[in-house]
Amino acid sequence: MTDNYPTPKWLCRPLRKRQLVYTTLHLQCTVYNKKLTIDLTMKTQSTVATPSAPDIEELITQLHHIYPDAHCELAYETPLQLLVATILSAQCTDERVNRVTPPLFARFPTAVSFATADRSELEQLVHPAGFFRRKAKHIQEASQLIVHQYGGELPNTMDELLTLPGVARKTANVVLGEIFGIANGITVDTHVKRLANRLGLSHSDDPVKVEQDLMAVVPHNEWINISHLLIFHGRRVCHARKPNCPGCPLRHICPSATL
Ligand code: SF4
Repeated sequence: MTDNYPTPKWLCRPLRKRQLVYTTLHLQCTVYNKKLTIDLTMKTQSTVATPSAPDIEELITQLHHIYPDAHCELAYETPLQLLVATILSAQCTDERVNRVTPPLFARFPTAVSFATADRSELEQLVHPAGFFRRKAKHIQEASQLIVHQYGGELPNTMDELLTLPGVARKTANVVLGEIFGIANGITVDTHVKRLANRLGLSHSDDPVKVEQDLMAVVPHNEWINISHLLIFHGRRVCHARKPNCPGCPLRHICPSATL
């Protein structure tokens, strides 16, 4: 998922199964006043079989059992720090973000300090997280809006959060869920999108559509948890390039398990 950052296509391509399809044609003709019927069965190979999703209750129960401590792995102490860390996490691992943020938060401890920071110094500190110019710009402009429009406090509604530069639904959902315990939607990052595709919960490549598909089937009281659970599984077992299907505890209910 990309809060305005490009996502490599191959990370999220839904996996498809090949399957044999049998088609029977019933042919009728008349030869010398006799009616003949011929059944012609053809065997073809289809590559567009759509995986069917597992029972969502069973899937969530299993994931809770496997990852009882699933949680947000970004390190933060204040709401603003979570916002900044989430902006930095676009196209970057949480592990790397967690190495970038300690000196960053020590140098700029408040929204005012981010808002008035020297841009080049800010860029230098966020450089290891990638897309450093865009991320530094978003962090500074979001901090300026928080200071000037929201009294220095992070807003707690989706509409208000979406007014902040660099904040799309993913970041807003992370902040609402983690800081305010508000389940307004479901956080869809690259792991959630990939897992939703492989598990047959969504067949879309668009994070907004994937979120809608998940919201349609996941019970509301699991909207915050489901992202943590899928992200944990995506990082540990269902890797982007080479999912560990033989060692996956979900293989008996996953429609992509044989791939
Ligand atoms: S069986 Fe597990 S590892 Fe394999 S695609 Fe399904 S969820 Fe991913």
